Amino acid sequence: MIRTKEYQDFSWKLHTDAGHRPIVGQFELTYACGLKCAHCYTDCYNTPEDRRREMATSEAITVIDKIVDGGCFWLCLTGGDPLAHRDFKTIYSYAKSRGLILTIFTTGTSMTPEMADFLVASPPFNIETTIHGVTAGVYEAVTQRPGSFDRFMRGIRLILDRGLPLKLKTVAMRQNMHELPAIRAFVEELGLQPQMSTAIHARLNGDVTPGDYRLSVEEIAGLNHPSGEDSSADDRGCKSCSSGDELEAFLRPADPTNKLFRCGIGYDSFWVNPSGRMCLCVTIRKPSYDLLHGTLQEGFEQLSRGLRELTFQGDSECTTCTLWDRCVKCPGKALLETGSLEGDIDHFCQVTHRMAAVDGVPYPTGMSSWQDVYEAKRTRRIARVQRASAPYDSSFQPLPVVEPSLSSASSSCSSAGT
Ligand code: SF4
Ligand code: SF4
Ligand code: SF4
Repeated sequence: MIRTKEYQDFSWKLHTDAGHRPIVGQFELTYACGLKCAHCYTDCYNTPEDRRREMATSEAITVIDKIVDGGCFWLCLTGGDPLAHRDFKTIYSYAKSRGLILTIFTTGTSMTPEMADFLVASPPFNIETTIHGVTAGVYEAVTQRPGSFDRFMRGIRLILDRGLPLKLKTVAMRQNMHELPAIRAFVEELGLQPQMSTAIHARLNGDVTPGDYRLSVEEIAGLNHPSGEDSSADDRGCKSCSSGDELEAFLRPADPTNKLFRCGIGYDSFWVNPSGRMCLCVTIRKPSYDLLHGTLQEGFEQLSRGLRELTFQGDSECTTCTLWDRCVKCPGKALLETGSLEGDIDHFCQVTHRMAAVDGVPYPTGMSSWQDVYEAKRTRRIARVQRASAPYDSSFQPLPVVEPSLSSASSSCSSAGT
């Protein structure tokens, strides 16, 4: 007799047993997207030239094979907007036929009755989309595409009316902050659990413009939602794409002092971009590995080798910070925003200290408030920058460049013809 297990038990067991194997993936099928969200980190690659570098459908299928053969269970099809891929249905159906547990991250605006019917016949594990506002003015202030609000509302109706699973998330930002309570109420009226994040990071090409749309520290403190900065799974990327809190328990180092990576990177998750390049997280795109001509296991091993042993090379305040596990600043976000894995992002530091005060976390002996702790760190940080000829050593690149080995490259040639 086959014993049935609750999904959570199943998931927990797989993550527990994963043992540094790539079982959770994100596959960016295309950077194409009909929206132009102000804070988008991939929009910089939604250009005709970049699109020409994206894989052919047969190659995307080969990548799916590599992902399955490498032992992956959960795959998120994302973008851009994966529904904007001309052969989404072919790739989705193939991934499904190979037994992957599929989630789709979509704008919602690209959902059609025909696509919704297709998904009903072959449902994903989940569909996730972002609700930027509940009025056209606010929603389109974020998406910068007139008419997108009506398409979005129609899209989520198509999903809900057919009983497909849906998760609605919100990025709280300047454009929608006055509508956040209405967004929450709208999501709850649909019977869904609102998810909100305030952690906006730079674009993949290093453009820091999205930071302009962050809420101020006091606005974030006033939101009064758990953990202040981020109650959404997504921004914790690495951590959440894997198994959320359970994974954190696994990875929480006994002594985090000086550890560069204090997240789930290199544990059991990976990303693949539309060109078939594999990396370990959303923000660190170099080094990458040519998955099309290699294997998932080799790519994962090469990319993660030595990663978790890396330590800070400079005297960053983060090395001794007792709030590190409440802070969303990480090497990847720092790399995008400052050019260095060790760079400082003052906004995240300030928010973390402010939220520690809001949450009543005891401040260190000898200090009179978390604000004082933050100010002291900021003063030391500025002094360090002034002492240095350059604020950060952007040449600090401890991560090796990796390519498929000859053996995996030759073995992939046979499957590349599928
Ligand atoms: S929907 Fe997503 S991919 Fe498209 S522009 Fe907005 S944030 Fe970027
Ligand atoms: S470095 Fe940052 S973005 Fe990358 S996995 Fe860690 S927390 Fe996530
Ligand atoms: S709160 Fe500041 S010092 Fe602490 S980990 Fe975050 S950025 Fe570093």
